[in-house]
Amino acid sequence: MSRRRAAAASLRRGGRRAVPSGKGASPRGGTPAPALTLHLFSDPVEIKALRRDLLAWYDRCKRDLPWRTLAATEPDADRRAYAVWVSEIMLQQTQVATVIDYYNRWMQKWPTLQTLAQASLEEVNELWAGLGYYSRGKRLQEAARKVVSELAGRMPRTAEDLQKLLPGVGRYTAGAIASISYGQATGVVDGNVIRVLCRLRCIGADSNSPAVIDHLWDMANALVDRSRPGDFNQALMELGATVCVPKAPLCGDCPVKQHCRAWRRVEKELAFASQKLFRKPAPVLDVEDCGAAGCPLCPPATEPWDSSLGVTNFPRKAAKKQPRVARTATCVLERRGCQGALEYLLVQRPSSGLLAGLWEFPSVPLAQDLQEEKQREALADHLQAWLGQPVPAGGLQLIGEVVHIFSHIHQTYVVYSLPLDEDVTSDPASSPSRWVTEEEFHASAVSTAMKKVLKAHEKQRRKESSSGQGSKRKRGAKTEGVSSTCSGTQLSLRAFLRPPTAS
Ligand code: SF4
Repeated sequence: MSRRRAAAASLRRGGRRAVPSGKGASPRGGTPAPALTLHLFSDPVEIKALRRDLLAWYDRCKRDLPWRTLAATEPDADRRAYAVWVSEIMLQQTQVATVIDYYNRWMQKWPTLQTLAQASLEEVNELWAGLGYYSRGKRLQEAARKVVSELAGRMPRTAEDLQKLLPGVGRYTAGAIASISYGQATGVVDGNVIRVLCRLRCIGADSNSPAVIDHLWDMANALVDRSRPGDFNQALMELGATVCVPKAPLCGDCPVKQHCRAWRRVEKELAFASQKLFRKPAPVLDVEDCGAAGCPLCPPATEPWDSSLGVTNFPRKAAKKQPRVARTATCVLERRGCQGALEYLLVQRPSSGLLAGLWEFPSVPLAQDLQEEKQREALADHLQAWLGQPVPAGGLQLIGEVVHIFSHIHQTYVVYSLPLDEDVTSDPASSPSRWVTEEEFHASAVSTAMKKVLKAHEKQRRKESSSGQGSKRKRGAKTEGVSSTCSGTQLSLRAFLRPPTAS
């Protein structure tokens, strides 16, 4: 075991002999050495006070959220756990304000595990559209099916079983469901809790490192209030979301500032600075510091405490991996439907991988640094393979570029449009496809990125019509006065495109 790992493991066992050597080493068999207590809650009186202060604040200030109401009022344990579970999955990587509407619609449509288990993936994707991280909805539905088919519709009753038996339920989600729904005294560690705990106990090592994460889980489990575990966990997360925020924490309003060592350090530095300013006898700055050599929880020696950052010295994260850069050519294929309304062709993505099962405009990945002409040819080839008929690259009108950031991909869509004025038939061997009106497009399971693509296309259309160029597209076939196509999803490619000169 590495020295840092050994020190972390020792800390988890109660802080004794947290480091094998150095001035932080604890006395034999006694309480943790004074230096190491910096990173611990070792005083039961303080733990009690922290629980009391945090819960009192939560009772006064908590936000009124639909999943909280359900968790507090639903008498059936399975329904209650399901309601909490849905909220926890939706809240992963997503703001509360965004989630509320999705949550209400979801619970209205599928109020129980059983109703969700009967839904199709298409329905789930449609409701999830725009929320991002689409695999979450799919996994939630798969897990609901498992509970119904293998567990007789009964949700596992402990955090351990929830994590073990439900696909997509990790340690955090299991702890949240068990503490909020069943009152199990188990802690939770999410991004908000990491921030709060790292500040409360001056933990400045990489907050993604196993040593820090293990330590925070131990701390969360030790701190959680035994009589109100669900409220305590929510209070800690609420504090991180509303007061102990990443960039400008509201320490003055914080209900637990008296227990916060980062805040205490800042206060001491301020007092020290003002004494110096008024030329009072120079005191020695008595900052709390761990000082243990090789401490796995302190900031690295190369990045010590920076006074200008104050409490935001904590937490620290290792530099994020740069997102992969990707380019995709995408084509808005449009026609006039039988009612005269514009319709767009959507194709379905594969059932696994990024944006699995969602609908999109026909798209093809591009190599980097490809000339525009080559991009256009690649897209035309893709459309040709998909439609089974030649598609002249010159018929594609370049709309522009749309950038969308996925968690790990910096994606640029090079957007083209292609107006059709005849029926076309897609190759039956290709992906499922369908024509949709604009209204249907927005109700479909399409990603936010595709909504941006359509927006760019509409913007271009408005620009052209206001400048009177609607029927004078440089490269595309005409969009005005195209013949109606009323064949539903059946497309035929006969006379699919007119050559550009014919428009
Ligand atoms: Fe966070 Fe400031 Fe409260 Fe400490 S005092 S927990 S840094 S808001």
